[in-house]
Amino acid sequence: MINKKLKQLLAQIRQAEITYNRKLGDVLLLAVSKTKTAQDIAQAYSAGQRHFGENYCQEALKKQQELSAYDITWHFIGPIQSNKTKAIATHFNWVHSVDSFKIAKRLSEQRPSALPPLNICLQVNISGEQSKSGIALNELAEMCVLVAALPNIKLRGVMAVPEPEENFELQRKPFKVLYQAVAKLGDFKLDTYSFGMSSDLKAAIAEGATIVRIGTALFGARE
Ligand SMILES: *Cc1c(COP(=O)(O)O)cnc(C)c1O
Repeated sequence: MINKKLKQLLAQIRQAEITYNRKLGDVLLLAVSKTKTAQDIAQAYSAGQRHFGENYCQEALKKQQELSAYDITWHFIGPIQSNKTKAIATHFNWVHSVDSFKIAKRLSEQRPSALPPLNICLQVNISGEQSKSGIALNELAEMCVLVAALPNIKLRGVMAVPEPEENFELQRKPFKVLYQAVAKLGDFKLDTYSFGMSSDLKAAIAEGATIVRIGTALFGARE
């Protein structure tokens, strides 16, 4: 089942790359496995999936232990509490949800020196809702300057979770705004646009996504 869904998703992604004049293979599928079991992850893995995203630190560490024999690239995509930065800096390859300098600094300080720099994205609150996390668009330039200077993390790009919209054109808008804002930044060598989920993946690819974070469309609905 997961095998079939994965194949369909990858075909959809490749098709969107062609439709929107993206380079073939430009978009990475991040399988969002929050609330799913280590067994679900193992199934996707045996179908070829290597990048997995988790939202809750405790839950992720448990699955990582069960899957320690697997060559998985782990992405943290959930809200980050200060008391979890050490575990996150130690057990993940990527963090997409950095939304303050304080958290970025802690991740840099707590990244074990034996490991390569931690890849991070700044989460931008692109719809401007008060409930969602993320920095404001007008804070992005200054945050990039500060975060890019930290030694043990590598600033890779931006992440966004816009307000859900059904209409394709409305879905595209916030992605476009963010993409254009990044283009106006100085040269931080950013190469990652982490946006697009199960319901807006095509719109995200149309507007430059390089990582789409997909849960439901791969693993089915969450409890
Ligand atoms: C859960 C989650 C996803 C995946 O959402 P789906 O709609 O299930 O594809 C992507 N990104 C973040 C930050 C999430 O929390």
